[in-house]
Amino acid sequence: MSIKIALAGNPNCGKTTLFNGLTGSNQFVGNWPGVTVEKKEGKLKGSKDVIIMDLPGIYSLSPYTLEEVVARNYLITERPDAILNIVDGTNLERNLYLSTQLMELGIPVLMAVNMMDIVKKNGDQINIDALSRELGCPVVEISALKGTGIMDAAAKAVELARAGGKAAPVHEFGSEVEHVLDEIEASLGGGIPEAQKRFYAIKLFERDDKIAAQMTMVPDVERLIKGAEEAMDDDAESIITNERYTYIASIINGCYVRKNRQKLSTSDKIDHIVTNRWLALPIFAVVMWIVYYVSVTTVGTWATDWANDGVFGEGWSLFGMEVPGIPVLVEGFLTAVGCADWLSSLILDGIVAGVGAVLGFVPQMLVLFIFLAFLEACGYMARVAFIMDRIFRKFGLSGKSFIPMLIGTGCGVPGIMASRTIENDRDRKMTIMTTTFIPCGAKLPIIALFAGALFGGASWVAPSAYFVGIAAIIFSGIILKKTKMFAGDPAPFVMELPAYHMPTVTNVLRSMWERGWSFIKKAGTVILLSTIFIWFTSSFGFVDGSFGMVEDLSDGILASIGRGIAWIFAPLGWGSWQAAVAAITGLVAKENVVGTFGILYGFAEVAEDGQEIWGTLAGSFTAVSAYSFLVFNLLCAPCFAAMGAIKREMNNAKWTWFAIGYQTVLAYGVSLCIYQLGSWFMTGSFVIGTVAAIILVVLFIYLLIRPYKESRSLNVGVKAKSAA
Ligand code: GDP
Ligand code: MG
Repeated sequence: MSIKIALAGNPNCGKTTLFNGLTGSNQFVGNWPGVTVEKKEGKLKGSKDVIIMDLPGIYSLSPYTLEEVVARNYLITERPDAILNIVDGTNLERNLYLSTQLMELGIPVLMAVNMMDIVKKNGDQINIDALSRELGCPVVEISALKGTGIMDAAAKAVELARAGGKAAPVHEFGSEVEHVLDEIEASLGGGIPEAQKRFYAIKLFERDDKIAAQMTMVPDVERLIKGAEEAMDDDAESIITNERYTYIASIINGCYVRKNRQKLSTSDKIDHIVTNRWLALPIFAVVMWIVYYVSVTTVGTWATDWANDGVFGEGWSLFGMEVPGIPVLVEGFLTAVGCADWLSSLILDGIVAGVGAVLGFVPQMLVLFIFLAFLEACGYMARVAFIMDRIFRKFGLSGKSFIPMLIGTGCGVPGIMASRTIENDRDRKMTIMTTTFIPCGAKLPIIALFAGALFGGASWVAPSAYFVGIAAIIFSGIILKKTKMFAGDPAPFVMELPAYHMPTVTNVLRSMWERGWSFIKKAGTVILLSTIFIWFTSSFGFVDGSFGMVEDLSDGILASIGRGIAWIFAPLGWGSWQAAVAAITGLVAKENVVGTFGILYGFAEVAEDGQEIWGTLAGSFTAVSAYSFLVFNLLCAPCFAAMGAIKREMNNAKWTWFAIGYQTVLAYGVSLCIYQLGSWFMTGSFVIGTVAAIILVVLFIYLLIRPYKESRSLNVGVKAKSAA
C-alpha cells in the first residue's frame, strides 16, 4: 500500500526546495481542482510506494486565503499518512504557530527544522531534543538547500506513517479554554475519531462556519463559548490565537538561544540600501532595465530572430554550416512525397507557420525566465513586491503584479505566467486579467502602422498606447476591486523577506524549464487548433457557387465572417470587413493585423510597419476611427497564445471567459467613446452613438467613484522580520 506524506509549512520555509530534493525529477505538477493554486505531487526517490505532496504555503489552518482552504481541505478529507512539517529555523516563533495546529489534526507529524545552515552561521542554537520533548513530536534538523538530513527526515516520516501513531495531544491553552474544549470534545458525536476531536473542538470554539456546518449534535456550544469570552473579555478566535502565541513563547524560551548580535547580517545591510526610501526605486529601475534590456532587446531579439527567421524560417548557420529552417525541410519533404496541395498548405501555412510563430518566442522567454528565477530565488523579488506594494495596493493589485506587467511589455504569455508568483488568489486573478492591457512587442507594428498612415508618424502615438494600457490597468483595478467578486474578507497581507542568498544553478534551471515547458505544451494544443481554424477559413470559400480552396483571401470564409460581423464595429468607426478580418487574425498573433491589411489591400508582402499601405489605409480611416481601431486592438482579447495562458493560469473556464469578456467589453466601450466623442468634437456630429458614449462615460465615472460595498481594508502591509 502506498504511503502519502504531505509537506506543510509557511510560505518560503523551503517546502519546494525540500520537495525537489526528495522527489528529484519524479514529479507531477497540476492544479488543485477548480482553483489557481498549484498542486505538486511526486514519488520519494528510491521508494516506489511513497508519495510526497507539496501543499501550498500557509500561516494557519483558518480558512481565510484560498491556499489555506486548499491545504486544510486536503489535510482533513484526504488525511495523509503523515505530515512533514517544515519549519524555518530562522523564524521559529512564527512558524510554530502553524505547527501547533497541524498537531491537533491527529495525523502523525514529523517536524523538520529547515535553514539550519543559516541558523548555525548566525551562531544561534536550537535545542532539537528539548523542542521535541515540549511539542511531543519527533523533530529533525535539515537544510533543504544543501540537502543535509533530508533523506533521513523522509525515512523518519515514512516510519512514523507506517507505525500509524499520532501526534501527542498538545495542551497549549490555559485552563479556562481547556475546560471548554474538553466539554465540546465530550459532546462531539461518535462519528469523529478520538484523535481528531481536538481539532474539531477548537474549530467549533473559534466559530468556524465551515466546520460547524458539517457537525451534528453539538448541544449548547455557543453558551460555553460565550462564557469563556465573557470570562476572558475577548472574542473566541482571538482567545485561541493569543493562547497559542503564549504557549509558543513559553516553549521557545527553553529551546532557542539567539546569539546577541551587534553587527547586522549581510542580508540586513543589503536591505538597508535596496529597500531604502530614496534608493529603492532607482535601484529597482536599473535591475529591471538590465533584465528587460538583455532578455527582450539584445539577447532576446537575437534569440527570437534566430528562432523565427532561422529555425522557423529560411534557415540558419551553425559554425558556417547552413541548417535549413523547419518550413524549408517540411516543404522539401512534402514535395518529395507528392503531397496534395491542400494538405501541404494546411501543414505549411497553417500548422508550421502558426505554431512556429509562437514557438519562436520560446528562446527569448527562456532567457527571461532565467532572470526571473534568479531574482526570485536570491530573494530580490520579495523586495520588489515590498517596494511596489504601496503604490499597487491603491488600485487593487499587489506589488507582485508589477513583474508580470513588466514582462508583458515583451510578451503577454510569460507575463501572465509570471503571475504565478503571486500567492494571493484575488491579486493573481486581477493581475491575469489586466496584464495584457500593456502593449506587448507584437502590438508595436500595429501602432507603427497607424502612427505612420494617419498621424504622420507623430511621436505621441506610441507613448499614448502605453498610457492607455496603464490607465486600463489602474481603472480596471479600481472598478473590479469594488465588485463582489474581488471584495470579501480582508486577507492580511504579510510579506516575506527571506535572507539574500546565492541560488543554485539546478533550481534556477528547473524553474525556467517548468515555465517554458508549460508554454510549449500550450503551443501544441490551443494554438495548434486556432491556427488550423484561421488557415481553413481563410483558404477555403465559395467561388462561383462552388466550394473549394480560394486564391484570394477576400473570397474565403473568413472574409464572409468579416462581412457578417463588420456591423458590430460600425459604432466604433471602422465597420469595414477588412478591419473586422484584421481584428480576427490579430487574435492569432497581433502583428498579423498589419500583414492582413497588406493582403486585403492587394499587396503580397508589406514591411513590418506596413509603409506600402499607408495611403490606402488613410483613405479608409479617419484619424479618430484609426485611433479607435488601435485602442480596440490594444485592449481587446489578446492573441490565442495569451488566452491559452489565461486559461492555464485561471484553471477555470468561468474565470477565463470572464477575463476575456471583460477585456473585450472594455475595449469596445473605450473605442466607442473615442470614436463617438472624438467625431463630435472634430466634426460636430451629434448622433445616437454620441448619446451612448456619454452614458458610458457617466457609468464609467460612477463605477470608479462609487463607495466600496464590502471590505476595503486590503492594504495592511506588514514587513516580516528579516530572516537572518
Ligand atoms: P516554499 O515557499 O516553502 O516552497 O520555499 P522555497 O523552497 O521556494 O524556498 C524559499 C527560499 O529559501 C528559496 O530561495 C530557497 O533557496 C531558500 N532555502 C530553502 N531551504 C533552504 C536552506 O536549507 N538553507 C538556505 N540557506 N536557504 C534555503
Ligand atoms: Mg513553494
